[in-house]
Amino acid sequence: MEPVRSIDDQFSKLHPLFPVNTRIGIVGAGPSGLSAAYALARLGYNNVTVLEKHHTLGGMCESVEIEGKIYDLGGQVLAASSAPVIFHLAKETGSALEELDSHKLAVLDPSSGKYQDIKVADDYVSVMSLTLEIEEKVRNSGRIGVHSVADIASDLTPEYLKSRGLEPVPKSVAYGYTASGYGFVQDMPYAYLHEFTRTSMSGKIRRFKEGYTSLWLKIAESLPLKLHYNTEVLAIRRNSDSVTVNIKSLNEVETLEFDKIIISGSFPLKYGRTYRSLPSTCIECETEVLDASDLEKDLFSKVETNDYYTTVLKSKRLDHLPVGFYYFSEYMEDPSTIGYPVALQKFYADSNIFLLWSYGNGTDIMGPTVMELAIKTVEAMGGEVENFILQRRFKYFPHVGSRGISFVS
Ligand SMILES: Cc1cc2nc3c(=O)[nH]c(=O)nc-3n(C[C@H](O)[C@H](O)[C@H](O)COP(=O)(O)OP(=O)(O)OC[C@H]3O[C@@H](n4cnc5c(N)ncnc54)[C@H](O)[C@@H]3O)c2cc1C
Repeated sequence: MEPVRSIDDQFSKLHPLFPVNTRIGIVGAGPSGLSAAYALARLGYNNVTVLEKHHTLGGMCESVEIEGKIYDLGGQVLAASSAPVIFHLAKETGSALEELDSHKLAVLDPSSGKYQDIKVADDYVSVMSLTLEIEEKVRNSGRIGVHSVADIASDLTPEYLKSRGLEPVPKSVAYGYTASGYGFVQDMPYAYLHEFTRTSMSGKIRRFKEGYTSLWLKIAESLPLKLHYNTEVLAIRRNSDSVTVNIKSLNEVETLEFDKIIISGSFPLKYGRTYRSLPSTCIECETEVLDASDLEKDLFSKVETNDYYTTVLKSKRLDHLPVGFYYFSEYMEDPSTIGYPVALQKFYADSNIFLLWSYGNGTDIMGPTVMELAIKTVEAMGGEVENFILQRRFKYFPHVGSRGISFVS
């Protein structure tokens, strides 16, 4: 087996391809934009500018403080060996992690509020041989992640498993997948399920004690970069030897020029399709933000994102729920229940603040409906909602369907 090389070792073998004072613009101060900035700084680049439309950084790894406690609204947990780069960054910045061993994982009955433990270990063991078999096949492909399995696991999950004479995805695996925001298993090529089972088997689950955003804040502070908050990129035009970027900052529109541009997050998919929505009729609008070539337009038109909501409520009468993560099995099986919460989380024993996760569809099921159904579900369980605290809508999990995934490969 090839030895795993440390990140420092990998960086020591790399050298900058362009002059180190190349003007590099990065759109987005989320994990990918800041990781790119980190890598560029390690390579010696000294003229990097990050443009972020929000007042803060971290993107979908957003942590907020509510009543003196930190809550992660999006990105939250890391499996021990599935995220070596994040663990490396955590170590470099001295960010403390905590294990979630004591957190309950259970199925919650939305009509009674009763919960039942879920046999996660047994279920994961039942998919282990398929996961290892696929891993063995792609080991020397030279590709990583979903790309490495695109050729061999592009069929939709039910068909893929059936054609191999295998059982359907075990419930706790399917629930874990759906509650992570990756859609309903019946809609997704098995390649994504494989990526999920592979990374979920990577050991203990941990999270950042001070919230995921704290990691990205520390990284940004440690880097020699210009970081502009409240700066929305409106348009990008790539010229023969430079890139022109139109930005809006404090209601002023301005033009910046860079030698190179890195686009992070779902920016190029601004007007792309939404999972379980009507097919978009607005693909052409992409040209408004990015001067996409025909090939890029064709590629982006195959990508859809999930409308995934986090709704935070304060509720009495749910004291019987221990700290943990709960699946609403009733809303996990059938995508026609979209809008109802698929999962609920209690972060702290001495708090009655709950996070609920729900899918929308970008058209008739949006924030207000999602909030209404979250409150209805909590009340049906016997809870008494005291306060609606906040809601976030994430444009999450850019993915392609079975045909798109074989095209990409
Ligand atoms: C509900 C949920 C749960 C998750 N759970 C986990 C988890 O447990 N563990 C884990 O590791 N990951 C998890 N993730 C995934 C993780 O949050 C994402 O993979 C990660 O945030 C993606 O980083 P990114 O930088 O690519 O995109 P983003 O996080 O979306 O960041 C993109 C940034 O670009 C900015 N931006 C966008 N458009 C513009 C523009 N026009 N101009 C300027 N700035 C712009 C945005 O404001 C944002 O800050 C979860 C995500 C969600 C939504």
